Amino acid sequence: MKKPLPALGLLLLLGILALAAFLFGRPLSRWARTLSLRSPRLREWFHNSAAHPDWRIQAGQRCASGAPFIFPTTGYVGFLWDDSFRLGQAHQGIDIFGGQTPGETPIIAAASGYLTRRPDWKSTVAIRLPDDPLHPGRPLWTYYTHIAWADGSSLIDPAFPPGVENLWVEAGTLLGYQGNYSGSPNNPTGVHLHFSLVLDDGAGFLRNELDIRNTLDPSPYLGLSLNGANDAVPTCPSGD
Ligand SMILES: [Zn+2]
Repeated sequence: MKKPLPALGLLLLLGILALAAFLFGRPLSRWARTLSLRSPRLREWFHNSAAHPDWRIQAGQRCASGAPFIFPTTGYVGFLWDDSFRLGQAHQGIDIFGGQTPGETPIIAAASGYLTRRPDWKSTVAIRLPDDPLHPGRPLWTYYTHIAWADGSSLIDPAFPPGVENLWVEAGTLLGYQGNYSGSPNNPTGVHLHFSLVLDDGAGFLRNELDIRNTLDPSPYLGLSLNGANDAVPTCPSGD
């Protein structure tokens, strides 16, 4: 009688490896890329931003002539959409680091729309575009957060108090300033803007922005490569 077991065992092992690669290959590569590329570059930016003027994108720049959005703040895009800080977790937006001090770097609306700030939002505003410029016929939300001091005192412009709903703002309107509020008081993040594009829930509000499946790759909207698959530092060539 033949012994099929070793061959079967090998096949089984190969199958398990293929399945693991399928399930974890991409998350692993994103996580490794975030740790090995983005984090060291961010440290470099904080220590010596003057050496990298090309890493800085200016608020209001339109990075490609066909891009519908302008850049929402000045700084270095340290973390990209679909980067991964922890295995299994995917970054739902981009992080733009303007400097070390909260309250200094203005944030502007990347596109015109209707601004909402929920009563309990200390550091966040969201702007609904009735018509997604790249997918006409569906609404799209732009989401801006970390606009507060580490203790939670807001850096959002007083024109947008808590509870404001559906207030029309033009692209380029000042929304507030980059802050370091993490969501829990006195547990600061680095000073930055987290900017994301969130799908509508069909009932007039945005879907849960913490789930990347509810968000879009912002690359075509801002006209530069902002996907976590990109090894390079996103830079803005035209800057009109
Ligand atoms: Zn972020």
